[in-house]
Amino acid sequence: MFLNHFEYFAPKTPVEVLDLVGRLGDKAKILAGGTDLLIMMKEKMLKPEYLIDINGVAEFKGISYEPGKGAVIGAATKISEIEQSDLIREKYFALHQAAGELGSVQVRSMATIGGNSCHASPAAETPPPLVALGAKVVISSAAGERELPLEEFILGNRKTVLAEGEMLTKFVLPEPAPKSASCYAYSGLRDAMEIDAVNMAVNLVLEDDSRTVKDLRLVMGSVSPRPLVSVEVPGILVGREFNDELVQKAAEAASGEAQPISDIRASAEYRREVVAVLARRLLQQAFGAASGKGV
Ligand SMILES: Cc1cc2nc3c(=O)[nH]c(=O)nc-3n(C[C@H](O)[C@H](O)[C@H](O)COP(=O)(O)OP(=O)(O)OC[C@H]3O[C@@H](n4cnc5c(N)ncnc54)[C@H](O)[C@@H]3O)c2cc1C
Repeated sequence: MFLNHFEYFAPKTPVEVLDLVGRLGDKAKILAGGTDLLIMMKEKMLKPEYLIDINGVAEFKGISYEPGKGAVIGAATKISEIEQSDLIREKYFALHQAAGELGSVQVRSMATIGGNSCHASPAAETPPPLVALGAKVVISSAAGERELPLEEFILGNRKTVLAEGEMLTKFVLPEPAPKSASCYAYSGLRDAMEIDAVNMAVNLVLEDDSRTVKDLRLVMGSVSPRPLVSVEVPGILVGREFNDELVQKAAEAASGEAQPISDIRASAEYRREVVAVLARRLLQQAFGAASGKGV
């Protein structure tokens, strides 16, 4: 389990980091929490010649919020900080829930939100709620910045759009709409430190009447190589008064859209069943919270 020989850099400013990322190219890897990277290095799946530790760069860390505009979360912000943030719990509840479910206390205190999306595991905890909440990512290089929706950043299992010389620096979350609520759930053997068999996030916005669905995002994880944004569920519910019959139809539609595989964690058939269960549950929860009626 020895690591390969590598050179370690601990830059202190974004300019230094971006210079290193540009100069060292694909011979280097960014070290954030190391909870995925070091395992891959120990298993010889990756043998970087250089590690660029971004933990000493204050600009890549923390959560800021501007009323009416939304929140910005630095890519190197620890999952535990997100889990414990009152702002995230109040405004972006699904992300708060997902952060609290990732791994264990020890893992959450090391792991970062940026690492979770950059590792791009199909079962990752935070991308589905971030996508449901409309998060964009900021990608930086020595040449400048570009911004794109998180669902376009993750291309598949361990694949992102990051090109050589680029890194993820922050997540930008819009201000939640009035009469909206988000929630998250997973199914899996969490107590055994197992990754999710299925996870899901919903973000629901109601009209002023507190009954008609104005906008809706339902995002599934672990049932496709990347977070799967439902097309059919908003088609069924948006513009209609929320009711049990439509929820049942929406749950069946989500189950049909899922593209799960069978593996040691669950069969594809079981995953489809769980998608329907989670969709029903989360849609009801989000409606209860957004309408002020509770669950
Ligand atoms: C015991 C255990 C349990 C776990 N349980 C869960 C779980 O329940 N749910 C879950 O989702 N994950 C889980 N994980 C996986 C892991 O903890 C998360 O994916 C974590 O968020 C990764 O973040 P990190 O900061 O540790 O990333 P790192 O390991 O530092 O990096 C991961 C990858 O992303 C790259 N990278 C990191 N930051 C950036 C950046 N800003 N820009 C560009 N590239 C970057 C790195 O170079 C590397 O390739 C678990 C891991 C362990 C060891």
